[in-house]
Amino acid sequence: MSESGLIYLLWSDLVGMTRTRGVPLQDFDSRLESGLGWACAGQAMTPFEHLADNPWGPVDEVRQIPDADTRFTIPASGEHPAIHAVLCDSRPSPGEDWSACVRSFCRKAIADLKAETGLDLISAFELEFLLHGPDFVPEAPFSFAAARAQHGFLTELEAMLSAAGVAPETVEPEYGRGQYEISCSPRPALKAADAALVSCEITREAARRHGIRASFSPKPTPEHVGNGSHIHLSLANAEGLNVTYDGAHPLGLSETAAKFCAGILAHFDALLAITAPSPVSYHRLGPHHWSTGYRCIGWQNREAAIRIMPGISRDPEKAAKGFNLEIRASDCTASPYLAVGVLARAGLEGIRKNLSLPGPAEIDPADMSEEARLEAGITPLPESLDAALEAFKTDEVVRGWFSDDLYQSFMSVKSWEADYARSTAPEHLFARYRRTY
Ligand code: GLU
Ligand code: MG
Repeated sequence: MSESGLIYLLWSDLVGMTRTRGVPLQDFDSRLESGLGWACAGQAMTPFEHLADNPWGPVDEVRQIPDADTRFTIPASGEHPAIHAVLCDSRPSPGEDWSACVRSFCRKAIADLKAETGLDLISAFELEFLLHGPDFVPEAPFSFAAARAQHGFLTELEAMLSAAGVAPETVEPEYGRGQYEISCSPRPALKAADAALVSCEITREAARRHGIRASFSPKPTPEHVGNGSHIHLSLANAEGLNVTYDGAHPLGLSETAAKFCAGILAHFDALLAITAPSPVSYHRLGPHHWSTGYRCIGWQNREAAIRIMPGISRDPEKAAKGFNLEIRASDCTASPYLAVGVLARAGLEGIRKNLSLPGPAEIDPADMSEEARLEAGITPLPESLDAALEAFKTDEVVRGWFSDDLYQSFMSVKSWEADYARSTAPEHLFARYRRTY
């Protein structure tokens, strides 16, 4: 390869941040086999300038080894040079999995689901973000004015996403002041997590090139509408057919999909520590925000932790093709790999144990009577990071999916964040998460 410039080796960590080391592009081929070294302890970085206690200390190292299929380029524009990058797996040595690598955690969970059920997990992320900056003027929610005001940014964003191989399904203004959204297209779940990471980074870069900032923080300020990262899931058989739907079920779920959902719901409180893992996540979650406050499932219900998304066609075959589940209690402070990984594992657990689904929420669960909620098994979600971490700690099943190193470092980083939130003034806390994510 004779190109000049840099290529960034990227990897995602426990706090959903993309870390990197760059190498000359001309040396890329020679880095393909053994990558670059990185202190294991780096996996215990908090989102800020702080390394949490961790099992490795100053001694051990892993290799960040590029997965050549994930290489992408953000094209040059104006005075901004092209950016070349590639996603990596963290490995003790080439070909060997590291017990604390989030991408390998995700890959294994999906592989186990496939091995036991013959099904592939298909996924797509919906990513909400806030545009802000001194010269940014918000327009009305969902309005054409809000699209036109940012048309330059949105157009370049679409072009960059497409050039990087992660063309979005839609790009639009959202409900909140200054809030926008991209919906990624569905892909096999590991690639969907890759696409979520790449899409967030490209959005931040496109905004930067337009003199604004894009923040995916779940709650950029106490007043702003929350940013979700809804995760869509469906199950596909060996022929690639969506087998999530069955018209005979009251909620349209196939037998396997119903068990899959039951597994996710059974462990939802613990899963939340992974899918909504920062102190500000809990300022987004809660009833009446369309972000979800209750552990329940519901047909097209935006207040349910799992929203059933029916296919839109009148043709039953086409409708079955579009049918999917939307996990709403997740945000971009989560590692997309850990989030998809635990959802796959929880779903598999439901299939293994033949779990049955609790009653659905037919309306906003917050508007149901306490009695009706009890009867349907609908319970409030943990209301703080501490409560979610406690649920994780006490859920033996979920705990069992994590290696000791991964569990300890995750708990250590997240407990540090929970402590940090307790000792930090709210304006400062929101600003730091807004700036970092
Ligand atoms: N902003 C809402 C959330 O925090 C979601 C709104 C919607 O797209 O339904 O999840
Ligand atoms: Mg949205």
